[in-house]
Amino acid sequence: MIKINQNYLKLPGGYLFPEIGRRVRAFENPSKPLIRLGIGDVTRPLAPAVIEAMHKAVEEMGHKDTFRGYCEETCGAYDFLRFAIRDDYLRRGVDIADDEIFVSDGAKSDCGNIGDILDADNVVAVCDPVYPVYVDTSAMAGRAGEYNGTHWTNLIYMPCTAENDFIPELPERVPDIIYLCFPNNPTGAVATKEQLKLWVDYARSHGSLILYDGAYEAFISEPDIPHSIFEIEGAKECAIEFRSFSKTAGFTGTRCAYTVIPKALELGGGNLNAMWNRRQSTKFNGVPYVIQRAAEATLTEAGRAQTQETIRYYMNNAKVIRDGLSKAGLQVYGGVNAPYIWFRTPDGMDSWKFFDRLLYEACVVTTPGAGFGPSGEGYIRVTAFGDAEATYEAVERILSVM
Ligand SMILES: *Cc1c(COP(=O)(O)O)cnc(C)c1O
Repeated sequence: MIKINQNYLKLPGGYLFPEIGRRVRAFENPSKPLIRLGIGDVTRPLAPAVIEAMHKAVEEMGHKDTFRGYCEETCGAYDFLRFAIRDDYLRRGVDIADDEIFVSDGAKSDCGNIGDILDADNVVAVCDPVYPVYVDTSAMAGRAGEYNGTHWTNLIYMPCTAENDFIPELPERVPDIIYLCFPNNPTGAVATKEQLKLWVDYARSHGSLILYDGAYEAFISEPDIPHSIFEIEGAKECAIEFRSFSKTAGFTGTRCAYTVIPKALELGGGNLNAMWNRRQSTKFNGVPYVIQRAAEATLTEAGRAQTQETIRYYMNNAKVIRDGLSKAGLQVYGGVNAPYIWFRTPDGMDSWKFFDRLLYEACVVTTPGAGFGPSGEGYIRVTAFGDAEATYEAVERILSVM
């Protein structure tokens, strides 16, 4: 008789966004239309340069001479896209070889799937609060232990709170795998070169692997903040980086991302680049040609200018939210180098309780910090990905109920 992966049965049921959905649906007669600043999805359309590239690629697919079937190049990624990504790294002085870049359908898939090439006994460290994918995929692979109602017994939780400026401290128990994400979802925090250097040195001295999620690097506005872990000396010997076109260029529904695995990454008796190449060429057949052309277009001069314009639009929302909530006397974090604003609930109120209050009194949907981990309790996340007018209105409403 077949046996199932028992780890799936250990996962707690009420995942954050379904629970938010339930509460929103249960709120039957809102006095005003709801404004949703909860889920971190983008709202602005794709850039004209992207649409143009997609149209052109679609046309090519309709002609015998330019039709494309399976992509024969590295793991289903066309050279034109990998070379454009390599050039993008070069702009920040980071030299990545084209065969260190693996294109995929999403950073979410990659940061979970990477566990395929790593042993189930590895000890995993995550920031707390955290993007839930790292935790749940660790649990599915049997790396998280048991869920005790608040924590997974085998995970190392690294609290990130206002007290440590939302930067995790080096843990006492040494992890084998360390998930880091900067700019951070949900806190909006960024790490400086010096702070990342500490982590790179720590990982190298213990033979640990850093899984670095840079999905929000394009939102960094301050100079001197690293956009890539590979800006840190020694990172090529201890880190893998995930990046995505999702937030950078509005590709959440278009789907394209990439993962950088340096060839110098010889850990635990294997070459991780070669192993991931083997894994992807066996289990994955690449991203559609049309989508890879779309992704390439975001890295052209016109594409860059247009996507930058959209990012400015979102970051202006972020400023409106930051300024408004600060004026209401709230302690506000993030929103300068990230499209997320993270604020403390007034008087240390329970985050689900304050979420309900904002829902019922202001008709604004947010995300309760507790949904991102135990140390998220007492905080609320608001996204800057909404419509500018609606965002302005949402802030006015929050101010009026404070
Ligand atoms: C949105 C997001 C991603 C992007 O995931 P995709 O699968 O590429 O859409 C990755 N990491 C974090 C932390 C995110 O918030």
